[in-house]
Amino acid sequence: MSTIRTCLQNAVKKLAEANVVTGGAENAALDASLLLCHTLGIGRTELYLRDDDALDTVDVATYDALIERRCLGEPVAYITGTKEFWGLNFDVEKGVLIPRPDTETLIATVMAHVSEKQASLSFVDVGVGSGTIILSLLHEFPNFKGEGVDISDTALKITQKNAEKFGVAERLTLHKGEFLAPIENTVDLIVSNPPYIEKDVISTLSVDVKGFEPMEALDGGADGLDCYRVIIPQACDKLNQGGLLIMEIGYDQAATVTALFDTEKWQGMNVIKDLAGHSRVVLAQKK
Ligand code: GLN
Repeated sequence: MSTIRTCLQNAVKKLAEANVVTGGAENAALDASLLLCHTLGIGRTELYLRDDDALDTVDVATYDALIERRCLGEPVAYITGTKEFWGLNFDVEKGVLIPRPDTETLIATVMAHVSEKQASLSFVDVGVGSGTIILSLLHEFPNFKGEGVDISDTALKITQKNAEKFGVAERLTLHKGEFLAPIENTVDLIVSNPPYIEKDVISTLSVDVKGFEPMEALDGGADGLDCYRVIIPQACDKLNQGGLLIMEIGYDQAATVTALFDTEKWQGMNVIKDLAGHSRVVLAQKK
């Protein structure tokens, strides 16, 4: 008879043998428990409280199939169809980048620069993905109005669906297009987590990233900076005077990205570190 505990133990063993989970046994155990929670439709606390409970054979078979998928490298978020970010449960699917905890640094940076929660700002998110940034900001600031742009139909569809789920759809406008081209009016704030990985580095990433996540959300060109070269001058045209551009960057891109700003047009350049101490967000104000 399988219990929750024995099922988890077997799964952790299989994941270790498949060698797909980076970060060792602890992360394998986390993945195993998230997938069992998903199978049983329960939360993690309940899973631990019930670890002697027997599992029926249908649940065991369903769970085994999910663990097989994870053993082939598929990320947990694509298997469960959900990922938590900034306290919100985002629907995700293959075709959009999985929200990363590092990106919460960008949300925290916006919060540090907006003096009050009731502020009414207009802003744009370049490359919405699942809606990670734009929807977290709309949820956090009840008077913000956001426009989101993406080239991917899947991203626009998922962002719209998440917006409805979080109750912020009436303050969201989505455009299909490239960078800031679809934006007609000037705005107070532009945010983006653009693709910033160097093309040659992509083949060295773990299989769950390079084998499953969308290349157009990762690939930043030869030196990783292609999108910043487009976004920075376009943002200068689309920001109101004193408006802010806040972007995520790679941990080693602080110097190269800040060098792309024309100091005749921008001021107050600042690089903010993430919780791991890596440079993660760049901020600049339009003069
Ligand atoms: N803005 C989305 C996120 O941060 C998508 C980013 C991307 O696809 N590069 O998750």
